[in-house]
Amino acid sequence: MIELQKQFQPKARNICSACGKDVGVSKLVVAGNVNICFDCSDLAKEIADEKRKGIAETEINQIANTLSTTRDGNFDVDMAQALVYANRLYKAGYRKVE
Ligand SMILES: [Zn+2]
Repeated sequence: MIELQKQFQPKARNICSACGKDVGVSKLVVAGNVNICFDCSDLAKEIADEKRKGIAETEINQIANTLSTTRDGNFDVDMAQALVYANRLYKAGYRKVE
């Protein structure tokens, strides 16, 4: 019985570390100590892209707030215009250094 179970055990190198499916080594991306199947890799990329988009929106809003406010805290430029400039600055590569 134990011999039979061993015979049908999938090989670890064929299994996706994320979903646990036995997809075969040719359909896995090896990253460090993990094997990720193409589907999980695509899903991870989509999630990462969404998170990057959220981070970008937060930074753009922070830039727009800075642009639209004077040193004394009064509004200087209207927010819609500040967002246009903030988007341009962000696309040009400006990032706030923390
Ligand atoms: Zn997977």
